[in-house]
Formats: sequence, C-alpha cells, structure tokens
Amino acid sequence: MPDNTRYFGIDLGTTNSAIAYIDESGIATPCRNQDGYDTTPSVAYFESPSNVIVGIQAKNAASTDPQRTLSLIKRKMGTIAPYEFNGIGYTPESISALILKQLAQDAAEHTGGEVHSVVITVPAYFGLQQRDATKKAGAIAGLHVLGIVPEPVAAALYYEATMGAVGKTILVYDLGGGTFDTSVIRVESNEITVLCTDGNDRLGGADWDRSLFQFLHQEVRQQVPPDTDVDSDESFLQMLASQAEEAKIGLTKREKLPVRLMAGGTSVTIDVTRERLEELTQDKLDTTIEIVRRTLDTLEKKTGSATIDEVLLVGGMTKMPAVAQRLRAEFGWDPRLRDPDLAVAKGAALFALGQVVFHEIRHELDQSGTESGKETEDAEARIDRVIGRVSEQTGMSPEAVRSVAVKETHPVLAKAHGVKLVDTRSPGPRREYVHHIVLGNDPLPAEEQLKTTTVEDGQTTVKLELYEQDGLVASPEVKANKRIPIPDDVFIDLPSAPAGSLSIEITMTVTEEGLLELSAWESTTRQKLTNTVEVGLLSKEQVQEAKELVAGITVSG
Ligand code: AMP
Repeated sequence: MPDNTRYFGIDLGTTNSAIAYIDESGIATPCRNQDGYDTTPSVAYFESPSNVIVGIQAKNAASTDPQRTLSLIKRKMGTIAPYEFNGIGYTPESISALILKQLAQDAAEHTGGEVHSVVITVPAYFGLQQRDATKKAGAIAGLHVLGIVPEPVAAALYYEATMGAVGKTILVYDLGGGTFDTSVIRVESNEITVLCTDGNDRLGGADWDRSLFQFLHQEVRQQVPPDTDVDSDESFLQMLASQAEEAKIGLTKREKLPVRLMAGGTSVTIDVTRERLEELTQDKLDTTIEIVRRTLDTLEKKTGSATIDEVLLVGGMTKMPAVAQRLRAEFGWDPRLRDPDLAVAKGAALFALGQVVFHEIRHELDQSGTESGKETEDAEARIDRVIGRVSEQTGMSPEAVRSVAVKETHPVLAKAHGVKLVDTRSPGPRREYVHHIVLGNDPLPAEEQLKTTTVEDGQTTVKLELYEQDGLVASPEVKANKRIPIPDDVFIDLPSAPAGSLSIEITMTVTEEGLLELSAWESTTRQKLTNTVEVGLLSKEQVQEAKELVAGITVSG
C-alpha cells in the first residue's frame, strides 16, 4: 500500500516561485496554487502580526499598501537585512520561509498529501552564505531540506529527462527577475557535471523594469501640468512600476503598445515600442553577453574546448525575443526555450526523488560491502529492492523510479574564498589583500593549501580572517570580499622570532554540500586551529525562534 510520500522541488525565485513533484507515472508536475497558476509571485503582504498574504494578492497590495508589501527578498539572502512589519522583526530567511510555507500549502492542497521533503534551488552564482540562508529558510518553514541545487543543474536535469541530452555540453542562460547566470553543464548517462559557472546576482528583469519605469516617468512628467507632484504619490509610483513590467512582458508578443495611467488627476497615454524597450535596456543585455563570453573563456581554459552543443534558456526574461536573437547573432547558436518558467522546479523535483533513490542505493550497496563473509546478494538485486521500496512508498511504477534514479551531480564552487594577508614585498606602506585559496569553478569537493608566515619581527600572534569573493570576478582588494566570521582564529604565544621565520600552513576544504573547513597549523608551537565554518548568519537558536514565529503566522494566497 503506497503511503504517498512525495518529494518536492521548489524554485524559490526572485520574482516568481514554483513547486513541483513527480507524479505516479514519473512525470515532473507543477502544483497549481489556489488562483490556478503554476507560479506564485514571491511577494509578501504583511497584513497583520499574525496574517501574511503571499502571491498575486500580495503583489496587488503593493499599489494600495506599499509600506507593508515586500518583493525581491531573494536579493537579500545571505545578508543581514532586518525588516519590521506590524511591530514584528523579520530576516530575509524568515520572509523567504513565509513564501515557502505558502508554496508547501498549495502543494499539499494540490497533491492531497503532506509536504515534508523538498529540494530548493538557488542561482548557480549563489555563494555559501546565500545557499545556507536558503537552506535555513526551508527549515524555518518547517520543511526537511534534502538539498540545495543550482537552478541550471535542475534545468539541465529536466531537459535531459524530457529531450535526452546524454553526451552533450549544455550552456544554460538563466535570466530571471533578479539574477542572471550562465552555467556549462556536461551530461553523461550516469552523471551531470557543472564545468563552470558565472553570473551577476544583481541583474535581472527588475532592472529592465526600472529602465522602462524611468522612461515612462519622464514621459509622464512631460504630459502632466508642470506643477503636478507625481513623485510623492506612492500609489502612482507603484502603479507605474507594475505598468512598466506589464508593458515589458506585453512587448514580448507585441511590437508596440499603449501604457495608460492617471497621474495627479491627468490621464496619460504613452506608446512604447519593442524597439524602444530594446534600446533602453541594451546595456543590460550587453552585460549578459559579456558574461557568456567570459564563461566560454573559462570553459576553454578548463577543458581545452569551448564547444557548446545546446543552449537552454531559463527564466521568465528569456521569453523576450531579443535574448535568443542576440545569442544567435553573437555566437551562431540556436537557443531553446523549454518551459522557461517551470523547468527549474520540475528539475528540482526530479533531483529530489533521484537523490533519495541514489542515496538509498548507495547505502544498500555499502552494506553489502560490509557484509563480507556472508553470502552477499548481487548488486542488481539490491538496487531492484531499493527501487521496489521507493515505488511502494511513492505509488510510482518501478520503471518510473528507475528512470529518475540514475544521475549523480558534480557541482563547482561558485565563489573564491581566502584569507587576508599583508603584502610585504611591494615597497611603500604595507597593503592588506585577500589571497584566495579555493577559487570559483573549482570542482567540489575542493581542498587547497597555502603556506604563509609572520610579517613583523617578534610577532607573537597571528589572526586568520576568512573572506568570500563579493563581486563578479575574484579580486584581492579587501573591500571586494565579504568577511565570514570564524570562531577559532588566532595563534597566540608564538615564539618571538624574526619576521618570516615561522611557518603557518593553512588548508581550506569545501565539501560538495558547501560546508567550508579551514584549518591552520603552526609547527614550532604545534598549535592547530580548526574551523568548520558556519558560513550562515543565523544560529541554530535564531532558526528555532524564526521557525516558531513562522509557525504562528497564518499564510494564505
Ligand atoms: P523568473 O524569475 O524566472 O520567474 O522571471 C521573472 C521575470 O521574467 C520577471 O522580470 C518578469 O517580468 C519576466 N517575464 C515573465 N514573462 C515574461 C515575458 N513573456 N516576456 C518578458 N519578460 C517576462
């Protein structure tokens, strides 16, 4: 008797989110929300201390009650950004948790079962802190997070499952509401490997909207009487912002459309053409093309070839005709638009179930290895048993389970990490800089070492400071890196010795799950500093507190 345990994939997007599961026949299926849509705006409206609305209603509330409406929270993940609504303090994690809670409720309603185990996706370019924040948002929402998976990996998995891509190198161009990233992914029959990734976590549809907003704003000013104060009219500005986005979306299909608005009692109509929109936002598309070029350079350096077999377009913004046109013109590719709104959530659902089956198989086979001496079952029979068990549990046919249980994924590190050193070689005042030990695009797990020393005569302490690359490209400038606090960070009572005579060896390891370990060894005093770095910003206690807060809030769509 199946217990209808299901595994869900969640695309927690900057502007829209989606949740999907694998149905009984093995098909990745989106869960409709109460409004009948497959995607839900990632917008929260804090109506009262105990009532939060998430989705379309919240998006609509932005024009009537902007002070209590919040969007684009994904951009704040991994940062300390306190919010307060109705006297209650929130973090980016707890606000994301409210969105996740709503998605889980919709999915429970859609599938008629509980939502417990989920995989949540993140942009490939998210660093460790941002990934950790996403995982904690899941925990705060009361979900068991099976894994955090990069969006392009999920998209490639979905593409492979539906179209077949074994033996292909795929470039995923993902332009969503708030982030852009590119990833090159190699698909083999048993594994998916991320070869390299790049992007900009501050570039997305919202920036296109802003350009169009500014244009419309200027046009409005020209059409209304000069003494009309449109800028202090919050709801007019919200209306203009949502009209700008609507016009951008409309111009995907139409070449020209009118935007009609009421500004300070004057009715205004502005004709916008697709051509004008493309001119206004040319610099943004250019930036994405530069990043694609840089991705190809990295790929060439890493693998000796920059050949791409398939280009996948993911993210709502890639529906704009300018994207495919430009990629075709610049690189001669024939980009595919395949379910750009749902490919990530569907791929995440495939990933979730695949992970469960994969780990169970591995566990079963490991056990057979430890049962030496006893007569061991043949591996195939053990795999069949796992498949049978999951099939029983989920109600899926054994064939459907087997089809998703085949891929192992190999991620890469999104951002460089290193320690602060003092430059003693250059003349003039001493300069501090960040020496990156593990680099962006290093395959995970990664382990690298650095040997360093003291810089002052008689220096008896050395402090380790850990940094994560903060910009697009790793830079040694300290301010281009983000400090990550570590608990055990000082060597003390070192023997008083001439500068440069002590030897300190630093080892940095990042696991596949993105857990960072930093250890350092000083041989004369035999001191060892070992840090399993909690890259996250919220402590266990804070997560628990936020979980209780979110559990006490009624969330509805
Ligand atoms: P995502 O984060 O993938 O949900 O993408 C959302 C972004 O895609 C938002 O900026 C939307 O305005 C934009 N978008 C959605 N549909 C379209 C469309 N048909 N044409 C242009 N942009 C769109």
